[in-house]
Amino acid sequence: MGDGSTREGWDVLVIGSGFGGAMAAHAAVSAGLRVLMVERGGWVERGPANWEPEGVWELTPYVAAAPPYRVLAGGDGELVRPCHCVGGLSVFYGGVSLRLRERDLDPDPAIVGDSRAAWPYRYADLEPYYARAEQILGVAGEAGVDPTEPFRSTPYVRPPAPLATASRRIEHAARSLGLTPFRLPLAIHYADDDGRAPCVACTTCDGFACAIGAKNDVATAVLPALLARGLVLETHTAAVRLIAEHGRITGVECVREPSGERVIYNARVVILAAGALASPHLVLASGLERLNPARDAVGRYLMRHCNAIVYGIFPRRPNPERVFHKQLGIHDYYFGHPSVAQPQGPLGAIQQLSTPPLALVRERAPAGLGKLIAPAIEHLTGLLVIAADQPRAENHVTIDPDDRDRLGLPRLVITHHYTERDLAARRALIRVARRILWRAGARWFYVHRIRTFSHAAGTLRIGVDPTTSPLDEWGRFRGLENLYVADASFMPTSGAVNPSLTIAAHGLRCGERVAQVLTARAAQAPHGAQRPRVMWRRRPVRADAPEPGATPARPTEPTQQTAQGDD
Ligand SMILES: Cc1cc2nc3c(=O)[nH]c(=O)nc-3n(C[C@H](O)[C@H](O)[C@H](O)COP(=O)(O)OP(=O)(O)OC[C@H]3O[C@@H](n4cnc5c(N)ncnc54)[C@H](O)[C@@H]3O)c2cc1C
Ligand code: SF4
Repeated sequence: MGDGSTREGWDVLVIGSGFGGAMAAHAAVSAGLRVLMVERGGWVERGPANWEPEGVWELTPYVAAAPPYRVLAGGDGELVRPCHCVGGLSVFYGGVSLRLRERDLDPDPAIVGDSRAAWPYRYADLEPYYARAEQILGVAGEAGVDPTEPFRSTPYVRPPAPLATASRRIEHAARSLGLTPFRLPLAIHYADDDGRAPCVACTTCDGFACAIGAKNDVATAVLPALLARGLVLETHTAAVRLIAEHGRITGVECVREPSGERVIYNARVVILAAGALASPHLVLASGLERLNPARDAVGRYLMRHCNAIVYGIFPRRPNPERVFHKQLGIHDYYFGHPSVAQPQGPLGAIQQLSTPPLALVRERAPAGLGKLIAPAIEHLTGLLVIAADQPRAENHVTIDPDDRDRLGLPRLVITHHYTERDLAARRALIRVARRILWRAGARWFYVHRIRTFSHAAGTLRIGVDPTTSPLDEWGRFRGLENLYVADASFMPTSGAVNPSLTIAAHGLRCGERVAQVLTARAAQAPHGAQRPRVMWRRRPVRADAPEPGATPARPTEPTQQTAQGDD
């Protein structure tokens, strides 16, 4: 590392600015700690371009054009492309903010199998963090309808928006089949009372950055306020190596882009939150698994849910107002159903989804077909099925030291196969989704099996057993005193709800623990030694960072492109 410079004196260094990193930083900044965050990507621009079909995440410059990961099985090499930007995947996510159910943290043996996955705490221990995460993310929802809803200590921040015509159709259809549709909790800003633009119910939400900043993603609703409170964020700065000495991380080597300058930062605690693929990548590239008593589990138990979208094709346009309509969830089959013989045990969730992104249809459909079917897109609306998947040791990430990328990182190699149970659970949910869509008026169906790793989780799991769980119950990496992991990697099982609120709750819990540990140490230190020596000068916050609570310029008129992410 010859020519790198050293930056010292931080209490906490957070790697990655997604849900996990931002929420861990939130807890640390709130405790008065000096926090540096390094983020590989830059800020996502907001404005009318986000409403264009090309605004869908996979076509933006924030997603690597060439797949840097090699996939040995499962997935699709073309689609396993990481997304690097301030806020991480939250910027493009669908805003669905569901908590795991109580029983998800005491998982069914049918899911656990031989993986020895076990949550080290109960839902009640995570509940206060879920409540706080919902407040921070301004989640709008309606309690008391979802039949599997877990205990809540606080109400939702706001009520949801009125149902669109398409949603009312699905609601009636589901009810007529004896099901219990409920309002999906969404991290969307509906109020018009605090200077921020409220949601205009456009059709490019899931999979797109919000043009007007009404989606409460991390880059909009969390980071600007933290920057105003002292968080320092270095964008276009990729961590490439964690340096361990004497049971501690003593430095984090980073590469700044585009200059290629190498910098070593150090901090009293490092919180790794680069995502469920990039975090184990960094751990393995730094050889840290050798220090962990659960070294064989590092990078293993990769989960991604077993998802599919069932599109119903309607004779008449199901969404005549052309508005956002990802509004309903159906959990009657979540923990299984008497009508489903196989598989027994948990099945998963069904959620409403809007119309597919035109740009993706054009791009992905076989040659010529895209243009042909584009006019029919408005006759589609869909249901997403999220089937619970099993954590399996065979599903893992590893590195190829002989194949290095331009930053010098060894290539990440992903191996993933669904089990027969995962696939059977998905098939069962697809059948239910088709019944609902048929009852709502759809006469033809198209099933798209999701192959991305948008719900990747579980590669550095928490647990009680130090020989099978690389992280302790707080997310601390065993074998290293001052390394914590705050992103989706921490999950021992992933239930069947979208993961972001659980990652956020874990991030807050992990960050709070770090703050407690550092504060306790400072209190024990002899007078005058509470604070580390300061050898740095705080850099100004990026000039182009949005002001906290600022509303991005409101574009004139949303286009009426149909659009949908894969989640
Ligand atoms: C289209 C889409 C829609 C989705 N919709 C929903 C939804 O509605 N509800 C839901 O709950 N979930 C949804 N998800 C999933 C959810 O967005 C992710 O599970 C979640 O954002 C993951 O958060 P994370 O903090 O673990 O990681 P990430 O969001 O991946 O954040 C990791 C961050 O680390 C940065 N990074 C990576 N490597 C480095 C490095 N070496 N150095 C520095 N920085 C680095 C990355 O650039 C990134 O900013 C969706 C996902 C997609 C793709
Ligand atoms: S529906 Fe449109 S305006 Fe509303 S939050 Fe989503 S992207 Fe923003």
